[in-house]
Amino acid sequence: MTQQPQMQELAEPIWQDILGYLRVHYARLVRGWFESLRPGTLADGQLEVVAANAAQKRYLDQHCLPAFIAAAQAATGHLVTVAFRALADEVQLGEDLPAGLSGESLPLIEEYSFDNFVVGPCNRLAHAACVAVSESPGHAYNPLFIHGSVGLGKTHLLQAICHAMLARQKQARVFYLSCETFINDFMEAVELGSLHTFRYRYRHADMLVLDDIQFLADRERSQEEFFHTFNTLYQAQKQIVLAADSPPEQIPSLQDRLVSRFSWGLVARIDQPCYETRIAILRKKAKIRQVDIPEPIVEFIASTITTNTRELEGAIAKVVGLSQAYRQPVSMEIAEEALGGGRDRRPRRVTIQQILEQVSKDFGARAADIQGKRRTKSVALPRQVCMYLARELTGHSLEEIGGYFGGRDHSTVLHACKAIGNLRQEDPQLRQMIEQIADNLQRGSS
Ligand code: ADP
Ligand code: MG
Repeated sequence: MTQQPQMQELAEPIWQDILGYLRVHYARLVRGWFESLRPGTLADGQLEVVAANAAQKRYLDQHCLPAFIAAAQAATGHLVTVAFRALADEVQLGEDLPAGLSGESLPLIEEYSFDNFVVGPCNRLAHAACVAVSESPGHAYNPLFIHGSVGLGKTHLLQAICHAMLARQKQARVFYLSCETFINDFMEAVELGSLHTFRYRYRHADMLVLDDIQFLADRERSQEEFFHTFNTLYQAQKQIVLAADSPPEQIPSLQDRLVSRFSWGLVARIDQPCYETRIAILRKKAKIRQVDIPEPIVEFIASTITTNTRELEGAIAKVVGLSQAYRQPVSMEIAEEALGGGRDRRPRRVTIQQILEQVSKDFGARAADIQGKRRTKSVALPRQVCMYLARELTGHSLEEIGGYFGGRDHSTVLHACKAIGNLRQEDPQLRQMIEQIADNLQRGSS
C-alpha cells in the first residue's frame, strides 16, 4: 500500500512570516509582486509557491530558491523545500521561434521604474533624458548613451524607459538586453546559420535598449553586426538607448564609426550621489522594502557608504538583518556593527559642525568668521582647512561644503582642497596640525 502524502494548507501568519523574512534577509531579491504570490500546498516537506505567471516563476526559479527555502525553514521551524508554480502559464515564446530567436531578453525588474528613481545633481541630466526618450522615442535624443561607474543606476534608468514605453504602448516591441546577450545571440545565429532571423528580430524593434555596451570591446564581428543593426533602426527613427561604464570614446577597441554614432544623440553621465541624494535613496529603498529605519541611522549609512548606490541597499539589508537576529529594534550600535565589515571603511561620523568647531579652536578663529564672507588671511586659511577636512572626512558634496562655509561654490571648495593638499606637502607644521585635528575628530576626542 502506498502511503498518502501528508498534505496541508500553510497558515496565513506563517506565509506572512516567510514574506517578512525575505524582506529582511533578501531585500535585494524581493519585488513588489511578491505580495501577490500565494502559498500552495505543503506536502511531504515541500511547499508550493504559486506565482501569477511564467515570467514571475522564471525569476523565482532563477534567483530565489535558496532564499525561499531559508525563509520557509525559519518560519515553520521544519526542513522544508520549495517549488514554484505559475498560475497562468504563458506560451513559452522562445520555444516556438526559429533557432536564433530564442535568446531571451532580460526580464524587466518591476522596481526599476521612474517613480522609484531618486533624482539628484548626480543624475539629473541622465534622468531627464531618459524621461524624454520614453515620452518621445526616436525623436528626443537618438541614440541616448548613459554612462557612469558600477552601481549608480544605469540599469535602473534603462529599464524605467522600457516600463514607461510599455505602459503607454503595450504592443511595442521593446528589447532590453545586456550586450552579452546580444553577442551570444549573434554567435548562436552564426553557428546555426540563422542570421536572417537574428537580424529580423533586432532590426524590427521599436526600441532597442542595450546595457553594458562596453562588452563590445574586442568583439569585432559583433561590432560589425551591431553597426548594421544600429543603422537600420536609426534610419527607421527607432529609439536606441545604450549604457556603459565609460563614455563611447573610452571604450577600448570600439570602432570609430560606432564611437561617432554613439555620440550623435545625447551622451549623459551619472556621477556618484551626493549626501542628500544618498539619504533620499535610502528612504526610498526602505519604503519599498517596508522597513522602518530611524533618521539618524539613515544619516549614518549615508555618510558611511559614499560611492555606490547598490551598496546603500546592501547596507539596509545588513542593518535590518542584524536587528532581526538580535531581536532588537534598529539602533546606532547595531548599524555600526552591521556596517563594521563594510568595504568603505573610512572613519566617519565626523560632522561638518565638529570640523568647524575643532578648526576654529585650533586656529584661534571665530566659527562665525569662518562661515562668513571675509577673506583676510587669518580666516581664509582655517576656512580652507575646514573645506579640506570636510571633503576628506564627511560624505558631503563640494556644493554642500561650499554652502556651509559661507555660501561658496563648488570650484572654491575644489580650489581650497588643492591648495591645502599642496600646503601640506610644503609646510610640515601645518601638516601636523591638520593630521592632529583629523585624528581627534575621528577618535571622538576634542
Ligand atoms: P548600474 O547599472 O549603474 O551598475 P543599477 O541600475 O544596477 O546600477 O543600480 C544599482 C542599484 O542602485 C539598483 O538597485 C538601483 O535601483 C539603485 N539605484 C541607483 N541609483 C538610484 C537612484 N537614483 N534612485 C533609486 N535607486 C537607485
Ligand atoms: Mg547595470
